[in-house]
Amino acid sequence: MAKLALTGGTPVRTKIFPQSNTIGEEEKNAVMKVLDSGNLSQYVGSWNPDFSGGPMVKEFEKKWAEALEVEFCMAVNSNTSGLYSCIGACDIGPGDEVIVSPYTMTAGAIAPLIYGAVPVFADIDEDTFCLDPKSIEANINERTKAILLVHICGHPSEMDVIMAIAKEHNLKVIEDCAQSPMSVYKGKFVGGIGDVGVFSLNYHKHIHTGEGGMIVTNDSVIAEKIQLIRNHGEAVVEGKKTKDIWNTFGFNYRMPEIEAAIGIEQLKNFLTL
Ligand SMILES: *Cc1c(COP(=O)(O)O)cnc(C)c1O
Repeated sequence: MAKLALTGGTPVRTKIFPQSNTIGEEEKNAVMKVLDSGNLSQYVGSWNPDFSGGPMVKEFEKKWAEALEVEFCMAVNSNTSGLYSCIGACDIGPGDEVIVSPYTMTAGAIAPLIYGAVPVFADIDEDTFCLDPKSIEANINERTKAILLVHICGHPSEMDVIMAIAKEHNLKVIEDCAQSPMSVYKGKFVGGIGDVGVFSLNYHKHIHTGEGGMIVTNDSVIAEKIQLIRNHGEAVVEGKKTKDIWNTFGFNYRMPEIEAAIGIEQLKNFLTL
């Protein structure tokens, strides 16, 4: 066999692949409808239905939850902000440790730091490049609170083994699904297998809205905390009568209406592939 280009051989392809444009008439029409409505974002900072966004955001979340077969979905403005929200919503704080992957985009390792926790690198499996369950186990100690794993390049992590480890040690499992929308592990979509999962809608991913992230969970407590973190939760805990205000100081991680409208159309395309 000829020497691979990767190791110094002659590349078969000398020009970069042309970029394809996945934005069509449907997305353009959806955007025009939002512009005509005059509401480019509808979140408000007090405790009422608009605290969790406008009609496009809510519709996109509903459709994404249906497609991924999960109970709750929260749209945010990136996968990165989604991961930060998950750390907060899992009650991770100073002194805690989170096991992360060394083979991924940086946000997975930074996320614990946002809440004062420590990222601890476990090693990856040499076949899947996802976290190696044996190495996860070797890195668990009394400070470990969660595993933030990545389904890298569309390849699901070994969820059965990892979930068993998490159960044994009482750890939360956060799934970074940025590169794996609709990836299936033993008949279940990734994202809804652990406690919470996040997808990316940035311009390099399978479908995109420019920027964006979708968080999925079947845990109502985590879902509610993520809604608070997304939209300056500290401003509404009194009106909402929230008792558990752990980590409810918030950020602005809100997805606007135009991105959600584009996302609804992009998701339709994705589901018909
Ligand atoms: C793209 C990517 C992210 C970051 O996504 P953004 O939406 O750009 O914040 C995080 N993790 C992985 C594995 C990614 O591929």
